[in-house]
Amino acid sequence: MTFEELGLSPEVLSAVQDAGYQTPTPIQTQAVPYVLMGRDVLGCAQTGTGKTASFTLPMIDVLASGRARARMPRSLILEPTRELATQVAENFEKYGKNHALSMALLIGGVSLVEQEKRLDRGVDVLIATPGRLLDLFERGRILLADTKILVIDESDRMLDMGFMPDVERIVGFLPRTRQTLFFSATMPPEIRRLADKFLSNPKEVTVSPPATAAETVSQAVVSAPSLPKDKRAVLRDLLRLDEVTSALIFCNRKRDVGILYRSLARHDFPAAELHGDLAQPVREQTLKRFKDGEIKLLVCSDVAARGLDLPKVSHVFNFDVPANPEDYIHRIGRTGRAGRSGQAYMLATRDDRKALAAIQSMLGHAIEKRPHQDGQVQERAPCSVPQEETTRTTTAQDAAVPPNGKGRRSRRRRGGEAMDGSRGPGATRHAGSKPAKSPKSPADTAFGDDVPAFLLRQSPVPPAA
Ligand code: AMP
Repeated sequence: MTFEELGLSPEVLSAVQDAGYQTPTPIQTQAVPYVLMGRDVLGCAQTGTGKTASFTLPMIDVLASGRARARMPRSLILEPTRELATQVAENFEKYGKNHALSMALLIGGVSLVEQEKRLDRGVDVLIATPGRLLDLFERGRILLADTKILVIDESDRMLDMGFMPDVERIVGFLPRTRQTLFFSATMPPEIRRLADKFLSNPKEVTVSPPATAAETVSQAVVSAPSLPKDKRAVLRDLLRLDEVTSALIFCNRKRDVGILYRSLARHDFPAAELHGDLAQPVREQTLKRFKDGEIKLLVCSDVAARGLDLPKVSHVFNFDVPANPEDYIHRIGRTGRAGRSGQAYMLATRDDRKALAAIQSMLGHAIEKRPHQDGQVQERAPCSVPQEETTRTTTAQDAAVPPNGKGRRSRRRRGGEAMDGSRGPGATRHAGSKPAKSPKSPADTAFGDDVPAFLLRQSPVPPAA
């Protein structure tokens, strides 16, 4: 299938050609004709599949005829984070360069004056995070009665971040007769229920089964001590051992992002941090420096880094084992993009046994261990996470061992032996340490300014850092 066969206008095709795309991706092949037809679409697709173009390209053509009225956007795209919203806006600019469509971006952290002026003049495309949109709506600055196309992107993430009540309210302000495009990387029952509620006779498009990791990503788990200081030393060793040209390092909590970033900087690593508490211009500048190769290591939270299009990430480090297995897929999906190979490491402590087992269960196979080099780090707390016997790294499609990684470890190992076979002196001391707090707590996730309205209503102050 070629782009020409999708039914797009010559102007859009010319912009696509200028973008350097040769052939449409599977989500584009499947979704574009239906969007052009005016059908609702339920798309199960991860970022990195060309999902954004699958709705922006046909939307540009659909919106090409018609005029926007003051404060009444003709289409609305909801995104869970500012970065994703900004990325979609960039896509519109790139693909819509041969059209005269007007666009506004409503996200936390940027001045609203200019955006409000644009809204007053009338916009064809409004791209927004739910909280900021509701804020403006409630102040009477915006009317959604003329919005004929609605895109709800990254729906599972919206749900995770607690935005769905806001999204449901927003949908209630839109006309019933509209076209709705609903995208999600995964399709758990709650997302399916919402899709049924928002969509009418949708065309379902699935481009990769939910919760599968790219085959180009080699994965390994490395035992790590529980003590943060020692765990950071293990990370530094990995950074030095491997050919790391550009890496994302994920922490579960944003305060740990700052701590790890400062520690790496103290050890002279070219690192920066990215989380929702940073001012928008700082976040943008950091991303630019990372994309330009000025910064090699970006320590980040899930929310801040979710869906970012960073094509040349050689490594992903899970400094913390994510509590939500699907976050693991999203994290490691930042590397191994566009057919390149990538390496993903996960540092696992003895407290991470359950979370690691859940990830392996979801993958359908164990992630193979990479022993930490003896003697490089004094391990104080040994690790006894589920593991495989072999030491080679694994790719996602390897399925050599049963789910959960269960049934392979001996009783002796359960007793607190480290993954690399050593038995550390801190075994008992750390055995009862508290498990990591769930990153779902509003206080711990990186909402930044994009806080769901219901949270703000419950408390007069924004969530703490
Ligand atoms: P997305 O899934 O929307 O985040 O897109 C991931 C990346 O794929 C972006 O860098 C796009 O510019 C790129 N892309 C989108 N469509 C195509 C295509 N048909 N061919 C090559 N690259 C594409």
